[in-house]
Amino acid sequence: MKIIHIDMDAFYASVEQRDDPALRGKPVVVGGDPRSRGVVATCSYEARRFGVHSAMSCAEAYRLCPSAIFVRPSMGRYVEVSRQIRDIFERVTDQVEPLSLDEAYLDVTENKLAMPLARDVAVWIRSAILAETGLTASAGVSSTKLVAKIASDIRKPDGLTVIPPSRAEAFLAPLPVRRLWGVGAATASKLKRLGYHTAADLARADPRALERHLGRFGPLLGRLARGDDPRRVTPERPPKSRGSETTLSVDVLDRQVVLRLIDDHASDVAEDLTRIRRAGRTITLKIRYADFETVTRSRSLPAPTHDARTISEIARALLDSTKAGERAVRLVGVSVSGFPDASLPEQLVLDFEAGQNRVGASEEAEGNS
Ligand SMILES: [Mg+2]
Repeated sequence: MKIIHIDMDAFYASVEQRDDPALRGKPVVVGGDPRSRGVVATCSYEARRFGVHSAMSCAEAYRLCPSAIFVRPSMGRYVEVSRQIRDIFERVTDQVEPLSLDEAYLDVTENKLAMPLARDVAVWIRSAILAETGLTASAGVSSTKLVAKIASDIRKPDGLTVIPPSRAEAFLAPLPVRRLWGVGAATASKLKRLGYHTAADLARADPRALERHLGRFGPLLGRLARGDDPRRVTPERPPKSRGSETTLSVDVLDRQVVLRLIDDHASDVAEDLTRIRRAGRTITLKIRYADFETVTRSRSLPAPTHDARTISEIARALLDSTKAGERAVRLVGVSVSGFPDASLPEQLVLDFEAGQNRVGASEEAEGNS
């Protein structure tokens, strides 16, 4: 297996510095106002030298680096760049597993560039990203996700690190257990108490002892520490629908009650769609009568929606073609399906920028087509 982990360098901050020359070479903190309770989303390498890092409070960042320039995140632009890098990845392979807007695993065992060496593929990707976005990315290349991800981090920024399978175990050996996949703060301190400090300690450990202490995860952790990671690159599969339903504790004959439930479910579904950054064209109402007979009624819109009002208006209208009110009802459900095949970024644009500036109306139209 040939796996590349790509990670953009100080992503949000780098986009800000690229787009505003006044920010270049300066400590930049992307996040909330330093007087607010916001946290640092990303900061530039110049700010990192002062000890600022992501997830710390903006107030703390300000204390460490009063000269820092605080910038509010503009997701629309980050999404735009994310779409560009995603497009580059897809010129290489369909085996792309995004971890966030700026990070992904690629399985390049077979690749569209027909390059036998994963290192060459990583070089190609990094230069395509630089040429097309003006930004740098770091890459880790190895035969496993675990090693590729750790490798991408060690020569940041603008780094490329290749760890051949034969060197994976030695590469991991000195690392603290916390760096291994699946080891959080609690597991790390438990392992420390048991005398396991580094990956080498775990690699040497008796798998049965690890199983006693950590259950089924124990032996897997031992394998990971030896550079043996069974996890495959899993291309994301977009969800097909999103729904919300309730089974009532008593059967309901009152149509008004059913209508109120429809409104509640419509807003739950809308919220859920916003969270997963999707919109769908088909709205379905599901009604189960007291005798368990279940009917569904659907209507499709010309354009996808994730709007609670729209969803509920249509679901309410669909109720007219059921026997609710004449027959008692025991379950009410609302769902939205028919998501466009469009890639994630277009859906993101729908949510973050709906009708706004930079990303513009043409993108919206695309997302809606
Ligand atoms: Mg990054």
